[in-house]
Amino acid sequence: MAGYDAIVCGGGPAGACAAWRLASGGASCILLEASSVPSRKVCGGALGFRARKRLIEAGMLTDEGLTAISLREQRAMSFFCGFEHLSRYESAGPAITMVDRMDLDALLLARAEAAGAIVVRGGRALSVAGGASIETSGAGKLSGDFVIAADGASGRIGREVRGWRRGPAGFGMEAFAPMPRGFPSEIRIHFGLADFGYAWVFPRRDDLCIGIGTIGGRNRPRGLFENLMRLFDRLGLERPAPEMLKAAPIPAGHPSCPMGSGRVLLAGDAAGLADRLTGEGLSHAVESGMLAAESVLNGRGLPWYRRAAASGCAGMVRQSAVARHLVYGRRFRRLAMRGLARDRRFFDGYWELVSGASGYAGMIAGFLRGPRP
Ligand SMILES: Cc1cc2nc3c(=O)[nH]c(=O)nc-3n(C[C@H](O)[C@H](O)[C@H](O)COP(=O)(O)OP(=O)(O)OC[C@H]3O[C@@H](n4cnc5c(N)ncnc54)[C@H](O)[C@@H]3O)c2cc1C
Repeated sequence: MAGYDAIVCGGGPAGACAAWRLASGGASCILLEASSVPSRKVCGGALGFRARKRLIEAGMLTDEGLTAISLREQRAMSFFCGFEHLSRYESAGPAITMVDRMDLDALLLARAEAAGAIVVRGGRALSVAGGASIETSGAGKLSGDFVIAADGASGRIGREVRGWRRGPAGFGMEAFAPMPRGFPSEIRIHFGLADFGYAWVFPRRDDLCIGIGTIGGRNRPRGLFENLMRLFDRLGLERPAPEMLKAAPIPAGHPSCPMGSGRVLLAGDAAGLADRLTGEGLSHAVESGMLAAESVLNGRGLPWYRRAAASGCAGMVRQSAVARHLVYGRRFRRLAMRGLARDRRFFDGYWELVSGASGYAGMIAGFLRGPRP
């Protein structure tokens, strides 16, 4: 039974970033990824500026490396209430990079490997066998000083550590369609098609990712499916075959999210770090993976990790749990839609939020000032 400084469970963005940071900081680490071959994940692939900046500043990726997998740099967004167009916004600021998740995950994992992390593809973590050792199906029993559980929204290690605490509480579904000639190239956000959620159209290089998602609203899956199909109809697109429609859970961050237990640290979706307003989780996965690794490298473990995450990604998730009521809640919804229709400052705040240029402060301040004609 080999001993490692850390065992990372899961090779998505959170796990790959943790393994890269550990290995490049001189720690011995092994990463278990259950899939033996790259597989398509259910994800819109909108990589916010916050994640991009962090990956580049940390030295994990270069600007050129990310540009090579970029399908489109998005700066424009159209907002709808149902199918009624509210307004179009174009940012002079940072862009959202559209990527294919298979490309992004493969690139991040390759960087972790190049830094010296041992990556076991097809290695499934089965349970935390006390302390920080892991039972696996592909690599025997492993022991380490720390375990970083980054096995996604419904991974078994994350579930084991979170215990009774809230698990996945939202979900999204999406399908891809070829982009018709002349189709508007901006992102479309359709509020009002999901309770506490929205539908989206993400134009990529030559196709569209069209989906609908919600966290914690009163939605029936059938109702969401029907609204998504109505969106396909309104866009003049052929409805996708049922097998082309994929769904996945979106975990809800919760104030009691423990970020781990003992020597096991949770990162990314396993820690419930999905934004509760936008559903976005890539930038929190990147940030939490790197912070978890940092806490292993500096030897301060969970208490340090909790504090660092609270002033970054976990803090943002907490703010998003408040902000979602301003946009989706019955009391404020009309005001929010008026703001989206008329007030550029509200847009600035919203764009900075979704592109990851800033946190919730700008958006909430714009909202509280109220719409200006
Ligand atoms: C419909 C939908 C659309 C989304 N769109 C966006 C978007 O546009 N932008 C955005 O920022 N976020 C989006 N998200 C959220 C985003 O996909 C997640 O937040 C992100 O994937 C989290 O990364 P992660 O590394 O924590 O988990 P994951 O990417 O889920 O990675 C977990 C990895 O662990 C592996 N694994 C699982 N169990 C085990 C095990 N027992 N042992 C070993 N390995 C295991 C899995 O194979 C997987 O590779 C979307 C989510 C949904 C559902």
